[in-house]
Formats: sequence, C-alpha cells, structure tokens
Amino acid sequence: MVCVEQKGLIIVHTGDGKGKTTAALGLAVRAWGDGLRVLILQFIKGGWKYGELDTIEKLKAIDGRIELRQCGKGFTRRDGNEHRQEHAAAAAEAMVQARKELASGDWDLIIFDEINYAVKFGLIDIAEVLLLLDDRPENVHVVLTGRDARPELIEKADLVTEMKLVRHPFQKGVKAQKGIEF
Ligand code: ATP
Ligand code: MG
Repeated sequence: MVCVEQKGLIIVHTGDGKGKTTAALGLAVRAWGDGLRVLILQFIKGGWKYGELDTIEKLKAIDGRIELRQCGKGFTRRDGNEHRQEHAAAAAEAMVQARKELASGDWDLIIFDEINYAVKFGLIDIAEVLLLLDDRPENVHVVLTGRDARPELIEKADLVTEMKLVRHPFQKGVKAQKGIEF
C-alpha cells in the first residue's frame, strides 16, 4: 500500500562495507530536490575537509533548506586517547543540538552521521539515542550511520541497510582518494 502522508522513518546504515555516509548524503540530495528541509549533523567528524561540505554549502546558498554541521573532533580510538574528554564533550554537545533540532520543526530529514561510532566508542549512551528517537516529532525522518549499530537501534529502526565489505582498494594498499573517500 502506498501512503502519501509523511511518516518519519528511522533509517540505519551500518556494516563494514563502504557507502554508509555516501548513501545518507545521496538521500539528502534526493530529499532536498523533493523540497524537504535537510540537516546533517556529523558526530566524530571535524576539522577535515570532506567534499560534501562544499556541495552542501553550495546547495544551502540556493535556498537555505539544507545544512551540514561538523560536531566532532576528528576520528578517535576507544583506548589511549588523551583527548577523550574533548571528544566526549563534543559528542554531548552534538546530542544537545540533535535534540533541539529534532524538536524545532525546522527539518523534515535529519542525518546523524557516524552516531553509531560515537556510541561504540562510549562517547554517547545508546539509551540516550533511543530516547532521542522516541521523543522526536513523528513526521521527521532520521538517518543514523556508522559501523556496528547496536541491536537495540536495529530493532527500533524502520529501514536498516547493512553495507557488506566484498573488496576495498585499501586492501591493495591504494590510499584514500579525494572525491571518492572524502
Ligand atoms: P563513505 O563515507 O565512503 O560512504 P562509510 O561511511 O561507509 O564510507 P566509514 O566507516 O564511515 O565508511 O569510514 C570512513 C572512511 O573509511 C571512508 O573514507 C571510507 O571510504 C573508508 N572505508 C569504508 N569502508 C572501508 C573498508 N571496508 N576498508 C577500508 N576503508 C574503508
Ligand atoms: Mg561514514
């Protein structure tokens, strides 16, 4: 049955294959083209010039209906990270922003890029993420990306896609290339 009424979906992109963030960005571009208001909040990522920053800035300049904010301090590891406090503070601040923007009524689609990493690294409690989803207005679509999505999140989601690693140029020693990896 096809229904035209907008019911906000919880969408998860996870798995060890490449394409989780790029699929979310593809969805953002589609949604913007269809007149939706789109916000992308990037957890963990920060201070690195990804191609999508330029793309979204250019789209934003057209009508302000799409925005990307880097809320992190760059990729991190669970152990031995001297900047852990900084990462934790950034993740907590990103969660405050996430809650505020979800409730604002300003957006039809919100992407929490790499939020699963933030949970995996112990920067955010999964219970907080689940609560965030429970409390959101029911017409807002939410996308959550990152490897190792927690089973509780997968259980809650309406749409879950697992990217599966079959082959990656990294395995042959090919370094990350601009425009493809970042
Ligand atoms: P992308 O941003 O390209 O869609 P992703 O979101 O699926 O990738 P992440 O887990 O966020 O992947 O990893 C970010 C970076 O690691 C990207 O530069 C991506 O190309 C690279 N990457 C993703 N999967 C693999 C893999 N299986 N092996 C090596 N590098 C990978
Ligand atoms: Mg990613």
